[in-house]
Amino acid sequence: MGENRIIGNRLYYLTGKLIRTDREGNWENTRGGFYAPVLFRPHKSRQSDIYFCMKKAVKRIAIALASVLFLCIVFTVDFFGETESVYGKITVVLDAGHGGIDGGVIGVSTKVKESTINLAIVQYLRKYLQAAQINVVLTRKDSGGLYGLPIPGFKKRDMQKRRDIIQAAHPNAVVSVHQNSYPLSTHRGSQVFYRGDSEIGLALAEKMQAELNELRKEEKPRSVLSGDYYILNCTEYPSVIAECGFLSNPQDEALLITEEYRQKVAYALFRGVIAFLATSASSE
Ligand SMILES: [Zn+2]
Repeated sequence: MGENRIIGNRLYYLTGKLIRTDREGNWENTRGGFYAPVLFRPHKSRQSDIYFCMKKAVKRIAIALASVLFLCIVFTVDFFGETESVYGKITVVLDAGHGGIDGGVIGVSTKVKESTINLAIVQYLRKYLQAAQINVVLTRKDSGGLYGLPIPGFKKRDMQKRRDIIQAAHPNAVVSVHQNSYPLSTHRGSQVFYRGDSEIGLALAEKMQAELNELRKEEKPRSVLSGDYYILNCTEYPSVIAECGFLSNPQDEALLITEEYRQKVAYALFRGVIAFLATSASSE
């Protein structure tokens, strides 16, 4: 197994696959043979983009140099010890809101349960993140809740179980997926919440909101909001709640009941997470 490394403002996966994000958070997978971060140090120079545009011959030289460096690493134990701290497997916790006897909010036209939509989006998001070699931990894996027996106190037990899963995962980011509801049925759109005193949570929220705004660009772009919610308060890890749409709005509901739109939402969330991971590590 290889591992992710974040260097500068880019996210790399070693052992041949390379994932990079540009300043807009776009990403791609390429096959690059060995990658030697010490040789290229993309964060030192904007010209590093040139590397990715190099012609085949130059690439071959780079791969040869990288191979030499790889041999150095093999024969010089702990040669890059000081840079190890930013390396390692990246973990993201995905939290599908509600579940079991707690269905969340209900669709105004179809009576679809929020819990069903949340889980579907989380499953797509998990696939995208895993394809980028990111370790994904789910709080809720199926339609059931996390509370054990459906007896009084179930909501508290359910939320505490989610907290325990997050704490055990030591994640780089936590994304809790929900759908919104409002008495006024004209309200629609996506809204991302973060904990007010969490700078890193705000950074994650802004990346996620930007991607959701891009997805729904026909509407007025929304800004992130701070919120006092258990899932945001229960740990210090960068955490957001993504309210993907309003089930009280018929148009949003019509979109959210389709697999196609759920995938689009998941992909927007994926792009937001990647953009966050790529920039957050570079400021460490
Ligand atoms: Zn909810």
